[in-house]
Amino acid sequence: MTAKTSRDKRVEEKIRCDACPVMCYIADGKSGACDRYANEGGQLIRLDPLMVMQRRVDDGGELVPFLDGSDAWNGDLITPQDAFVTAVGAGTTYPDYKPAPFIVSSIVDDVDMVTVVSEGIFSYCGAKVKIDTDRHIGPECALVRVDGEPVGHVTTGEYGSQMLSLGGVHHLTGGGKKEGRVTCATLLALCNGDAVDMQVDDGSSLVLQAGKAPVINGVAEARMRVGCGSATIGMFAAQWHNLVDEVVIVDDHITGVMSEHQAGKVIGWPASGIKILGRRSTPGRYFQVAEPGTGWGGTNLTDPLAILGLFDPKIAMPGQSLLMVSTTGEQFAYYELDQDLQPVETAMPVRLQPSIKRIEENCEPALTSVSFMGGAGGSLRAGVTENPVMLTRSVKDALTRVTCGGAPVFIWPGGGITLMVDVTSLPENAFGYVPTPALVAPIEFTMRKDDYIALGGHVDHIMSIDDVLAGKVGPQNDHDLAGKRRFAQQPQNPWPIRR
Ligand code: SF4
Repeated sequence: MTAKTSRDKRVEEKIRCDACPVMCYIADGKSGACDRYANEGGQLIRLDPLMVMQRRVDDGGELVPFLDGSDAWNGDLITPQDAFVTAVGAGTTYPDYKPAPFIVSSIVDDVDMVTVVSEGIFSYCGAKVKIDTDRHIGPECALVRVDGEPVGHVTTGEYGSQMLSLGGVHHLTGGGKKEGRVTCATLLALCNGDAVDMQVDDGSSLVLQAGKAPVINGVAEARMRVGCGSATIGMFAAQWHNLVDEVVIVDDHITGVMSEHQAGKVIGWPASGIKILGRRSTPGRYFQVAEPGTGWGGTNLTDPLAILGLFDPKIAMPGQSLLMVSTTGEQFAYYELDQDLQPVETAMPVRLQPSIKRIEENCEPALTSVSFMGGAGGSLRAGVTENPVMLTRSVKDALTRVTCGGAPVFIWPGGGITLMVDVTSLPENAFGYVPTPALVAPIEFTMRKDDYIALGGHVDHIMSIDDVLAGKVGPQNDHDLAGKRRFAQQPQNPWPIRR
């Protein structure tokens, strides 16, 4: 019987992943709790390939054929100046004082640049979700639940959209274990572009997926409204002039009345004697004509006549015409007053049909937008520099550009490095998780090498982009890469390394 080699012994033993605080022991052939790392013959492997972004030709890149089967790509085909090493698949180093997994040097327009690349572990993170709909999905501050667990809440609505604020440290760590796990899974799914079923307390059921139409109470939303009722009056007043005696745009927020509105006054629209049951704000603009709901214009109305009082007999006349329409043009009705000045619905005249179509045409497709929001102003910075606040200052001074998976981010003013990024601008499946629970998101910091030295960067760990493209890893990494994959720069994303 031959003696066991040291490698045999290593293989038999579990190895310890120290890429996050969980510190999994992983047996050979198995993966850790997050499925991001595995033990392959005693070697720790980052299972997802390192994603390298290839520059588009119209952004100054070279024309390089994009091959199928890019899994097997060996890094040869892209010239280094047309390659950007993203943090997707780069791995993490933990604890944070260790240098980031890749600190990559490149030359752009004869200037030495450095990109610090790491998958950040974000315990403080969440998603802001914009849902293009007028429909009432639930009261502000109502809890949003997934599998019965609270994962966020309805927040302040925006123009033509409802908004959710999901995740955050209180749901990830401040509630029960299941709440944290479900919140993390919800954020991960949304950020990776998967659909998630949600329920708003005292509100609607939702199916939300980034870049897709929201599904509200089982119905896919088609259009985002053209504007509020007042804005719709303003936009289309001239088109209705002399075609109808009165127009009412029904809207939960601001219902517009043509004959009273400034737009109608300017073009000489005569009074109609109409009476709106709501709180008058300014001429021709009414608040609170009904309760919020999923009916006409985001109200609970199924019959818009419910918002009308009696017409003034001193002004209104039998036969007078009235168009009522919602802010998306989905609901519309045409009426004429009878002898008792009561509106009677009749068929929509041909002359008014183009105006309804014009409202529809001006509505954009309803989408769900998911923005990942996270704080990179914490310990993650120590992987970039020995003096973390220097990185924060460098970002604020616009000397360091922050990207997520190569995509541009919005940095909030104020302290820290609090960023927001549209998840559809990242490569697919760019997000991961660890069961602490926290989300793992790619982050890159790009700056001139001079500035990196000045902020106390880990300059001894800089490696050339050629070495990274050749598959080498830095000495600070305990893990190997499973491979590399390249993907094309999205047309809307600027090239991240610019002077
Ligand atoms: S959860 Fe993942 S990253 Fe964390 S120690 Fe385990 S395998 Fe490593």
